[in-house]
Amino acid sequence: MRIDIVTLFPRMVEEPIGESILGRARARGLIEIGVVNLRDYATGKHRVTDDYPFGGGGGMVLKPEPLFAAVEALRTPGARVVLLDPRGRRFTQAIAGELSRLTHLILLAGRYEGVDERVSAALVDDELSIGDYVLTGGELPALIVTDAVARLCPGVLGDAGAARHDSFASGLLEGPQYTRPEEFRGMRAPEVLLSGDHAKIACWRRLQALWRTWRRRPELLETAELTPAEQKLVEEFRRGKGPDESWMRSA
Ligand code: SAM
Repeated sequence: MRIDIVTLFPRMVEEPIGESILGRARARGLIEIGVVNLRDYATGKHRVTDDYPFGGGGGMVLKPEPLFAAVEALRTPGARVVLLDPRGRRFTQAIAGELSRLTHLILLAGRYEGVDERVSAALVDDELSIGDYVLTGGELPALIVTDAVARLCPGVLGDAGAARHDSFASGLLEGPQYTRPEEFRGMRAPEVLLSGDHAKIACWRRLQALWRTWRRRPELLETAELTPAEQKLVEEFRRGKGPDESWMRSA
């Protein structure tokens, strides 16, 4: 897969995509990530990319010409063009999964007061928001989308199964994780995780994920895929009962 990030501030995105898992995935050719300077697609002596809004008002607006020129130069058949915008649909794990199956994703980072509306009307396929707050630019949102999408591409995560157990992947939040030491400041890691009994561990993890989701994001349980035993358990949570060991034996 290829992801192109179109921005006026390339240095804001270059460093993070060269680090850690993304950097290694790029180096191994598992994913291509391009950083495109919008100014390269502006014309005229001063390569102007923004202008005053028609009708007045504070701030500047990104002009349509450089954005159209950049996308027209980059776009390959099947590419999806996404504008990062607080007015867009809310980015989720499900959308990350959908985008990870594309061959080419072009992310447009807005700046200032935003982007000329004709970009939304005639250039982009989708608009995504990373949440109900306003940032100074689309670079951080583009990095967030890139990171979430890239880690779902085949081979990017060392452990192929890791993403399957993440929060939201199964419609639930992930349960607690522990590592060495077994005991820290009087707090012991749960015995079941040290038991080596993989079936029991899987059961415990599922139970913890259900319980945590119930406590923190109960609305996720409305759409999560649950077995009849798990549905019964959630009913018990609703009636005020917490998780107990007996469920692990029956599930
Ligand atoms: N005036 C715009 C509004 O009220 O909707 C906000 C513009 S914001 C200061 C500048 C750019 O940052 C936007 O064009 C967008 O690319 C990006 N941006 C800011 N917040 C965002 C968010 N929550 N999600 C996605 N992009 C965002």
